[in-house]
Amino acid sequence: MAVPKRRVSHTRAAKRRTHYKIALSAPVKCKKCGAYKLPHHLCPSCELKKS
Ligand SMILES: [Zn+2]
Repeated sequence: MAVPKRRVSHTRAAKRRTHYKIALSAPVKCKKCGAYKLPHHLCPSCELKKS
């Protein structure tokens, strides 16, 4: 197995990790209408019914 020649500095590692993003979390069901929505977000279908 290959072994890294040099230690990656904190700055260099941090720069590489700027491309990392949090994966989209699983959708949850809306309590009112049962439609899938993002957790801690306003339900789009409920919001449509309001107006
Ligand atoms: Zn809803």
